[in-house]
Amino acid sequence: MINKSIGCNVRDCRYHAQNENYCTLNSIQVVNHSTPATTKESTDCGSFEKR
Ligand code: SF4
Repeated sequence: MINKSIGCNVRDCRYHAQNENYCTLNSIQVVNHSTPATTKESTDCGSFEKR
C-alpha cells in the first residue's frame, strides 16, 4: 500500500509503488552513506532492496 508520507523516486527498489513516486513500506530507515554526513549524497535509504 502506498505510503504518502514517504515520497521516493527510486523505481529500482522493490518497495517502490511504481505507478506513483512513493514508498509502500510503513516506515523506512535512513542511514549514513559516509560518516560524517556532509552532503545529501552522504545519506541513504537503508531499507532499499533490489527489485
Ligand atoms: S525502501 Fe527506500 S528506496 Fe525503497 S521505495 Fe522505500 S523509500 Fe524508496
